[in-house]
Amino acid sequence: MKTADFVLCIHGGAGTISRDTDPARVALYRAGLSAALQAGLDILRSGGTALDAVEAAVVCMEDNPCFNAGRGAVYNAAGQHELDSCIMDGYHLACGALAGVSTIRNPIKAARRLMETSPHILLAGHGADTWAEQAGLELVNNGYFDDEFRHQQWLKAKESGLVQRDHDDAKGTVGAVALDAAGNLAAATSTGGMTNKQYGRVGDTPLVGCGTYANNAGCAVSCTGTGEQFIRHVAAHAIHSAVVYGQQSLEKACQTMVQHTLQPGDGGLIAVDRQGNWQLAYNSAGMFRGVADSSGLFRVAIWED
Ligand code: ASP
Repeated sequence: MKTADFVLCIHGGAGTISRDTDPARVALYRAGLSAALQAGLDILRSGGTALDAVEAAVVCMEDNPCFNAGRGAVYNAAGQHELDSCIMDGYHLACGALAGVSTIRNPIKAARRLMETSPHILLAGHGADTWAEQAGLELVNNGYFDDEFRHQQWLKAKESGLVQRDHDDAKGTVGAVALDAAGNLAAATSTGGMTNKQYGRVGDTPLVGCGTYANNAGCAVSCTGTGEQFIRHVAAHAIHSAVVYGQQSLEKACQTMVQHTLQPGDGGLIAVDRQGNWQLAYNSAGMFRGVADSSGLFRVAIWED
């Protein structure tokens, strides 16, 4: 039975987010999540597509320096920013993804453009930036992604030789999944990756089926966490497979992945199916997240309430 005509779930990253985080900062995160949720919800409410809704929600978080995507993306080991993104349309199984781009202001817009105009699915590095320029997407200097808080975080990580994901006061990868009133699913994810990552490292986000997946036959999923783990378990597609071939409920499929297959602290994911069931699942101390639907539900959260 269908539980809602349309649903939108978002995440802004998962990690060991301290409950002692400065309340003013927490308020900024909550406001950022609410704005992204509202941007996508407005589209779904006016009969727009799941694809437009997930893109709008992700663009909103890419433009917000609170999150590790677009502006505010983490620093790699070379002290620069390399961004990954992916978008997928559950009706056509069309998808577009970019890996290791460094000058595209909104990597999710570029992923969508690639999906709609190119025979290719995934472009990487310099070639991807060049393609985006030719496609007329907005480019910025790599310094546009700079953020002092993130810079300090990188200097610390570099000193200890660690590759880090989210930690206290973290800003996370962003993602959105949606079901629209026409019954179509979509997923989108965008990230700066992991602090102090090797130059050239690609995470789960732009790999279709790992960090991002949408298929009307099953569900739409967007992941956040230690990318290598999500790649290893082909996490997003594994959830879709459990729903379709294993006849599992969305809840069972997501909880099994997060609580049993992945390791504690690996991260989390959001998912929605065509019946309007949704999941915001994580095994870290917290996950920036939100959900809204056609019944008037509108909720954002960081920790367990
Ligand atoms: N999954 C992202 C990556 O590994 C990082 C994150 O979600 O925090 O690139």
